[in-house]
Amino acid sequence: MKRVLLKLSGEALAGDKKMGFDEPTVIKVAQQVKQLSDAGIEIGIVIGGGNFWRGRSSENIDRTKADQIGMLATVMNCIYVSEIFRSVGMMTQVLTPFECGSFTKLFSKDRANKYFSRGIVTFFAGGTGHPYFSTDTATVLRAIEIEADVILLAKSIDGVYDSDPKSNPNAKKYEEISIQEVIDKRLGVVDLAASILCMENKMPLLVFGLNEENSIVNTVNGVFNGTK
Ligand code: UDP
Repeated sequence: MKRVLLKLSGEALAGDKKMGFDEPTVIKVAQQVKQLSDAGIEIGIVIGGGNFWRGRSSENIDRTKADQIGMLATVMNCIYVSEIFRSVGMMTQVLTPFECGSFTKLFSKDRANKYFSRGIVTFFAGGTGHPYFSTDTATVLRAIEIEADVILLAKSIDGVYDSDPKSNPNAKKYEEISIQEVIDKRLGVVDLAASILCMENKMPLLVFGLNEENSIVNTVNGVFNGTK
């Protein structure tokens, strides 16, 4: 793997608190990403916003506005995580699909490529910039655009199951599954729009547990315990 896109959910950043940031969790992620970056792997990052806000968080406000708040939540997450990454010795930049003044830079493929060539870990914040989408869709979209070799989907569970392992103790974990099957069985690894984009563009996905020790580094090094 030369270039990877790592997707972290917002909740994963919050640890047990479920809201906001859990700094020790983020520092652990940073240390792993640094190992990969030091080994010359180009790393793009997308982060969800669920630790602050989701478009469906309020039934009383307009969905487009609610989604704008969600997209801004992902910008806050990326600024925070990128600063933690800097604190462990990485160079970072945050790109958004809309202007955020001097807080971020506007996304373009050329700009992302320039950062990657300089060894800068590049955050794709703000989702797709459009309401009614998710950071899953943004992840697949950016992975395709930047021609990533693979999407690393770091989740709170350690792979794809045939049913929810939290409610069904007999849930079976897949070692390997096609996106078509994920769609047919509505397994919800990523949402439907993202699944279809992934399938149409043959973008490989590796799903694994963020909470497992060193799981990001292990996954890139082929020591894989999740679902392909
Ligand atoms: N969001 C959006 N467009 C995007 C990406 C995100 O409108 O392209 C909003 C949406 O409101 C979403 C929130 O940002 O609920 C947080 O994104 P995330 O993907 O974490 O949300 P989830 O899939 O958990 O709803």
